[in-house]
Amino acid sequence: TRTPVNVTVTGAAGQIGYALLFRIASGHLLGPDVPVNLRLLEIPQGLKAAEGTAMELDDCAFPLLRGIEITDDANKAFDGANVALLVGARPRTKGMERGDLLSANGGIFKPQGKAINDNAADDIKVLVVGNPANTNALIAQAAAPDVPAERFTAMTRLDHNRAISQLAAKTGAAVSDIKKLTIWGNHSATQYPDIFHAEVAGKNAAELVNDEAWLADTFIPTVAKRGAAIIEARGASSAASAANAAIDHVHTWVNGTAAGDWTSMGIPSDGSYGVPEGIISSFPVTTKDGKYEIVQGLDINEFSRARIDASVKELTEERDAVRELGLI
Ligand code: NDP
Repeated sequence: TRTPVNVTVTGAAGQIGYALLFRIASGHLLGPDVPVNLRLLEIPQGLKAAEGTAMELDDCAFPLLRGIEITDDANKAFDGANVALLVGARPRTKGMERGDLLSANGGIFKPQGKAINDNAADDIKVLVVGNPANTNALIAQAAAPDVPAERFTAMTRLDHNRAISQLAAKTGAAVSDIKKLTIWGNHSATQYPDIFHAEVAGKNAAELVNDEAWLADTFIPTVAKRGAAIIEARGASSAASAANAAIDHVHTWVNGTAAGDWTSMGIPSDGSYGVPEGIISSFPVTTKDGKYEIVQGLDINEFSRARIDASVKELTEERDAVRELGLI
């Protein structure tokens, strides 16, 4: 029998947390034979709701769920953590300037980064979901100097999955026929979903679609603004699909990408593709044995270059802003 993996979830009482915890406990995060201990971190106002969710988790009698701890103390929540899903964040409210948003989140992610640094297990893997996810991940990473930087990642898998779904609908293919799609840059409206290297049932996607106007005016904005469209339709922001993407991100990181395919992850740049070293930007990656590698050698055309550069520029501006605020 395997020792349980400690999985910490912050913002556990929120919408995404509610959709996420049951799937972690049922084995979808790490695999059907991996027992888990859940550590739920909440702010004091969220503790009672987290306890309610924990009661429901108990009531599922999940064979893989070995324990649940609920706390508002980050040091306890990350004690021995092997996987950390940082979901809780300060949302942008009306009239809030970017600087206010970044400093409010700095107040969350800097102490959490330090608590991870001081308490997590040596093999800790961190996924930041809470927005602005890339820069929140950078703040946490900078506060954890003893943890290898590459263990801090930000979620662009929902954008990746959304892009696969849109491309499948356009081409009439099954989602499982779509490979090698890439999200570049920031998880924001500037993100760039790239189909120039993607394949639809083995054929090049861009050549198959052969419609640059659709790409520029329909596909890219539909993927980038999908979150707002969901809010408009549902009256609430996407939660189940975001939780699903978090599951996919960690599952792929731990269990590997399929041969002949890759995925998209926000990761600390090593300078590849002209993305400044250190910022947390989305790249095409393959994963194996719990490690990821950027897919190298892709030819970046002018259309893609301009869009990657624009998103990366936004990320460097966010980095400069949090640097000025003393958060990194
Ligand atoms: P959600 O669970 O709906 O969302 C949580 C975060 O995920 C938000 O920052 C949200 O960003 C982000 N997110 C990323 N991708 C997506 C996506 N595709 N769709 C929707 N959201 C996405 O928020 P709730 O308000 O329901 O819950 C947040 C919880 O976090 C609360 O229970 C609160 O108490 C807790 N919290 C905990 C903290 C802690 O543990 N220290 C700190 C702060 C909050 P966006 O806002 O841009 O949609």
